[in-house]
Amino acid sequence: MPRKRRIPNLLLTNDDGIYSEGLWALARALQDLGQVTIVAPDREQSATSSAVTLHHPLRATQVVSQVPGIQTWAVEGTPADCVILALGALAEGPVDLVVAGLNNGGNMGNDTLLSGTVAGALQGHFRQIPALAISMTAVRRVRYESGAAVGRALAKQVLAGRLPKDILLNVNVPNRSLRAIQGFQVTRLATRNYIDVLRQGHDSRRRYFWIRRGKPDWDELEGTDIWAIRHKLVSVTPLSADLSNTSRASLAQGVSLAAAAEVWPRRDPARLGSHLVAS
Ligand code: MN
Repeated sequence: MPRKRRIPNLLLTNDDGIYSEGLWALARALQDLGQVTIVAPDREQSATSSAVTLHHPLRATQVVSQVPGIQTWAVEGTPADCVILALGALAEGPVDLVVAGLNNGGNMGNDTLLSGTVAGALQGHFRQIPALAISMTAVRRVRYESGAAVGRALAKQVLAGRLPKDILLNVNVPNRSLRAIQGFQVTRLATRNYIDVLRQGHDSRRRYFWIRRGKPDWDELEGTDIWAIRHKLVSVTPLSADLSNTSRASLAQGVSLAAAAEVWPRRDPARLGSHLVAS
């Protein structure tokens, strides 16, 4: 008799803060895949990238979960802090999967390097724990139910051991109903050609600056993340902490199609996503 496998441990975090609707939509979708622990920032920490708090102590407060049975912690820190605390102290047992999301707003192209959502997943990746960062490509009227189904299907694939442990997938989900989404596409990062806009003012004592996000100007080349979203496809971008590394794409391809088959069990397999587009 093979030894009974232990229940997998999932760690969930985000960068929009513990009260973000997307976090809880994902928690509900993942809860029966294993023992979920949530460790998330106590406030919005978007665009903090991989910032780690080294110069003052961090406090974690256990809070009441919106989903019964999930141990939930709010941390006075960044997403990276949250995952470091979770893996080092707060989560019980070895963590099998780190999931960050569902983020409000896409994390595509260059923005991936600024993203707190991706940074949370990166901390798992640094420790050879499979990791998913999942973002909805809208900030208003967000279709969390679509991202939750996508996240659940991908998490199942990863927990089934269908990817190497050092995989990090950056997933962007079109803000549409599941019915309207056309499938999964393994992608590479687009480049975004804009310069952040500076607004200046004076508060009567000193000059101040606001950094504003400029209007994005994407390259939109075929096979990029933004291209997939424009074509109503879930974008799955394999990332590596080794920024000079190129392709994990073939590894992610099978898993993406399997996840798509789970999300749309009755859909014609030809409509589960496009084939890999070579860069
Ligand atoms: Mn965010």
